[in-house]
Amino acid sequence: MFIEPSVNRKNTPFQKGQIEVICGSMFSGKTEELIRRLNRAKIARQKVEIFKPSVDKRYHEEDVVSHNDTSIRSTPVNFAEDILLLSGNCDVVGIDEVQFFDEQIVSVAQKLANQGKRVILAGLDMDFEGKPFGPMPKLMAVAEYVTKVHAICMKCGDLAAFSFRLSDSKQKVMLGEKDSYEARCRKCFYEDKR
Ligand SMILES: [Zn+2]
Repeated sequence: MFIEPSVNRKNTPFQKGQIEVICGSMFSGKTEELIRRLNRAKIARQKVEIFKPSVDKRYHEEDVVSHNDTSIRSTPVNFAEDILLLSGNCDVVGIDEVQFFDEQIVSVAQKLANQGKRVILAGLDMDFEGKPFGPMPKLMAVAEYVTKVHAICMKCGDLAAFSFRLSDSKQKVMLGEKDSYEARCRKCFYEDKR
């Protein structure tokens, strides 16, 4: 369980920013963990803003919605730079589905953190081929804290770090409907990988 190193930094002269990455496969509870941290920041009277790439239109346009239906209002943005303009005077910036942004998200996260903001990024660390996903490796490198959350393998019940695509599509951005993917452990992922 991630414990905030310094929850109540408001009104202190030592407000430093930081970057936190929450990564893992599908069904690993990344968004739930993001929402948990954001709700705790709210309790600490921090001003919280949440963003996601507008490519993620699976659910309601303005909510970060996790698979178990806990939700927080969020702002869909087309480009990573939009977050700089929209996050103004907030203390904590949450970004969900961060793997869908381009490399610009890395410098955006750095700029926000260097302004003294706490930046919490949640995203898939690997795509359906088991390859590092988009900007995730770089974000993990520049973050102060990286949390890898695990799903349960839907084939054998072991811990799962991979997202196995059940359909034959090779399209990279294919969004996570439950029936298109399974969480898999390493063995079960590579056994059935096409
Ligand atoms: Zn397995």
